[in-house]
Amino acid sequence: MGRSIQLGKLFGIPFKLHYSWFLIFIFITVILSYAYYPEVTNGSWSTAAYWGLGVLTSLLFFASVVVHELSHSAVAIRGGMPVKSITLFFFGGVAQITKEATKPTTELKMAIAGPLASIALAGLYYGIFWISSGFNEYLAVLCWWLALINGMLAVFNMIPGFPLDGGRVFRSIVWLVTGNYMRATRIATMAGRGVAYLFILGGIVLLFLPEWRFNGLWFLFLGFLLYSAATTSYRQAVLLDALRGFTAQDVMTRDPPLVPRNLTIRELIQRRFLPTSSQFFLVVEGESVGGLLTLRRIKGIPRDEWDITTVGQAMTPVEKLKVVRPSDDALEVLQRMDEESLNEIAVAGGGRVIGVVVRESLIRFAQSLQGLRR
Ligand SMILES: [Zn+2]
Repeated sequence: MGRSIQLGKLFGIPFKLHYSWFLIFIFITVILSYAYYPEVTNGSWSTAAYWGLGVLTSLLFFASVVVHELSHSAVAIRGGMPVKSITLFFFGGVAQITKEATKPTTELKMAIAGPLASIALAGLYYGIFWISSGFNEYLAVLCWWLALINGMLAVFNMIPGFPLDGGRVFRSIVWLVTGNYMRATRIATMAGRGVAYLFILGGIVLLFLPEWRFNGLWFLFLGFLLYSAATTSYRQAVLLDALRGFTAQDVMTRDPPLVPRNLTIRELIQRRFLPTSSQFFLVVEGESVGGLLTLRRIKGIPRDEWDITTVGQAMTPVEKLKVVRPSDDALEVLQRMDEESLNEIAVAGGGRVIGVVVRESLIRFAQSLQGLRR
């Protein structure tokens, strides 16, 4: 997911902030300090107190989101699914879990852990509000808002629209009943789209009511967001399912053409590329592989330098090549390529490059598998 900065690690999981997080942080702080807190306290505090409490509340709100995501992550890790990172962004948080659950019960526990954590936090903050409301107004209003927002977080996430937590809970139950992961995903996606349509329809209705117009816009926004999330998650689930059980060795292009390193780019294009139309070449020096040269890389070299640039100068040297093992899961290879924005990755076994996985051909491979299963 786009641009984010890594802050550090939480229980060994990289913790990141997406740039959009700063916008929503400022937004919430301003709403609280400028409007909400002055209203509930009849403007009886100093400006500094409002802003101080506003910033503190925003920070605690995001800490609550982190606790929610950590709960998903803890269950995932216990279920043998590694968590790549937790990112906070505009809309809350997301824990990147690199494997899909293989059992419906695991997915059920993992999906429900987040909302349960939010409910627990809501209860905790409500308790502190209840205790402090007699003697500390600052603590009381702070905890009241945090109890409310955590409760809302739990409720919103439990909307049965896949890929929200509630949608995942729904999918795992259908999966449990039908025993069929893809069918469950299809049904959950349909339900997710249904919920999205309801939001959009509700939004349109609200737009006609003068006092609710602003909420109508919110509903429309959420509806479109849910719809596109459901569609994206479905496509991804289909792709993941198709690649399940395949390894890097199964999906790589074998025996890439070999070229000597002192060949110029023009010679390579004329003598080797045009006859084979291969997307990449292994550059050799005697017996050993010196590096990998891709067509994509060649396209980046100005044409008037083709006569003076050798293959050896343009290649990615073998020590800088991104490499996977032949037995690695095809899925993990794809995820790694996505994360590191790679278009191709070398497959090395027994100390030498035996093939190359190209992103487009991997996707095409998965798509044709889907076609076979229909
Ligand atoms: Zn969640």
